[in-house]
Amino acid sequence: MRLDIVTIFPEYLEPLNVSLVGKARAAGRLDVRVHDLRAFTHDRHHTVDDTPYGGGPGMVMKPEPWGEALDAVLASGAGDDPVIVVPTPSGRPFTQELAQELSAARWLVFTPARYEGIDRRVIEEYGARLDVREVSIGDYVLAGGEAPVLVMVEAIARLLPGVLGNADSHRDDSFAPGAMAGLLEGPVHTKPPEWRGRTVPEVLISGHHGRIARWRRDEALRRTAANRPDLIERCDPAALDRHDLATLAELGWEPGEDGRFGRASGRVEE
Ligand code: SAM
Repeated sequence: MRLDIVTIFPEYLEPLNVSLVGKARAAGRLDVRVHDLRAFTHDRHHTVDDTPYGGGPGMVMKPEPWGEALDAVLASGAGDDPVIVVPTPSGRPFTQELAQELSAARWLVFTPARYEGIDRRVIEEYGARLDVREVSIGDYVLAGGEAPVLVMVEAIARLLPGVLGNADSHRDDSFAPGAMAGLLEGPVHTKPPEWRGRTVPEVLISGHHGRIARWRRDEALRRTAANRPDLIERCDPAALDRHDLATLAELGWEPGEDGRFGRASGRVEE
């Protein structure tokens, strides 16, 4: 997969040389190219921002440097069109599902902004002929889009074939579709069997694979119900087995006539 990142802080992307993403780059699975937006300015001060039309606080990123930078990146492609990912708090939420979807692309271009964001016409210009996604990593406002790019690249890169040592590792991850039905992963333990008087749950050292799988599943359901009830509400009861349903019933969750889970005592009849 090829990744291009256009930024006024190329050094902010240094962590992409480290750990899993760094190894994927070294192994040739990821071709990451970071571009300095200021290289596409033509004034003495390398200006990338200006005051907003209509007034108001803050500055807005000028369209000309972005246009030149993106044209240069696009011209360096080998015929394919990239998906352009625009980090912005007003974008579609970045989820594991979106990470999966983007991991299927051959080429992604990220446009992390600063100030109050990029002049809207840039998104319109490229959105008219390319797949442009405005994406938010959460309901909070950061100072710039570089940290969101690091987040997204790591989430996407670990889904690429050959990047994780064990190809099955992300199958049991929180939010994974399929076997996990979008639930959170339960707690994990390693050696020693006793630490500060706390023992590992007996079932995990029983060697009984069926019981271990059931325990893990129950813990995933409990954790999801406690921390992310919204995920239980969105869960498809048909994706769960009868043990799952019994565990959820113990926790006070039952499927209603609308086919969605609700709290047994709190379901509002219409
Ligand atoms: N005024 C803008 C708003 O309220 O939507 C926020 C601009 S923010 C200070 C500057 C840049 O940081 C954004 O253009 C975007 O690139 C990035 N950014 C900040 N928070 C983000 C988030 N939650 N998700 C994705 N990008 C974010």
